[in-house]
Amino acid sequence: MSPTLPSPQLHFANLFQFVVDQEVNGLNLIGQLRPHRKFHLADWCSNNQAELLAIAEALSWISEQNIPEDARKVTLWTDSQVSLDCLRNLKIRTQTVEWIRRTVWSLRNGNWRVAIRWVRAHDGTVGNEEADRLAKEAAMDEEAEVSFHLAPLTFISRMSSDASQREWNREWNLSQKGRHTWNFYPSISARRKSELQISYKMTQALTGHGRNKASLFRFGQAEDPFCGCDGVTEQTWDHLINGCQLFEQERSRLIRKVMLTGELWPPDARMLVGRFLDPFSTFINSMDLELL
Ligand SMILES: [Zn+2]
Repeated sequence: MSPTLPSPQLHFANLFQFVVDQEVNGLNLIGQLRPHRKFHLADWCSNNQAELLAIAEALSWISEQNIPEDARKVTLWTDSQVSLDCLRNLKIRTQTVEWIRRTVWSLRNGNWRVAIRWVRAHDGTVGNEEADRLAKEAAMDEEAEVSFHLAPLTFISRMSSDASQREWNREWNLSQKGRHTWNFYPSISARRKSELQISYKMTQALTGHGRNKASLFRFGQAEDPFCGCDGVTEQTWDHLINGCQLFEQERSRLIRKVMLTGELWPPDARMLVGRFLDPFSTFINSMDLELL
């Protein structure tokens, strides 16, 4: 007989238990209610990043539920020992890890009993297998929500690890995805010369994803892909960086800096994150994305 997780009534007031698994990317809840959520990550994300994202998303989901006080008990199951180690290691302070800690803390303040525990992967455990299946489904699912903003944390850490660089470089060059980013960083060595500071806005600019209309339209969240500045140009990040009139003023200093060196506007994307990184970062971080 397959092992099963401890019975649901131990957790979450007889309603369901959480099972979190991230071999590919996915998040699943099983039990009497069987909601599940699936997420895509950028293709340079590590498994661990995906595991942590699933835990974060599960916690986020829990905190949105209206559960009576006497039933506020939940256990999240993950087969990622690495994720649990990250959460326990107070020296690790990445955005996702910190977010998870804060959310657990605030749930506990709201009289929740929260536990995150380990379950062996590929052991036939009901729930874990289900999460596995959903994760694979999510990886194939073009419509799944894209959690783009978390990707570059891993992007950076992978790039800083010498051991993985060669492999990463090879994957990076072969991949069909992430071509927008590839224009900025066609190789590891190009990336290493750049002292990029990641921010929420910079992430969007470099991945090409986010709240720009071309991306939203692609995921069925906007009626058209066109930019409000002229109503006919697709609102891609190339457009927002190079020519969108909404950000003319913010862009002017960057253009001046580029022209002063004798380059034409727009310069090669690699130059924006190379010799023009400072004015480029200032430009991107000054953009008011509420205007999109
Ligand atoms: Zn525009």
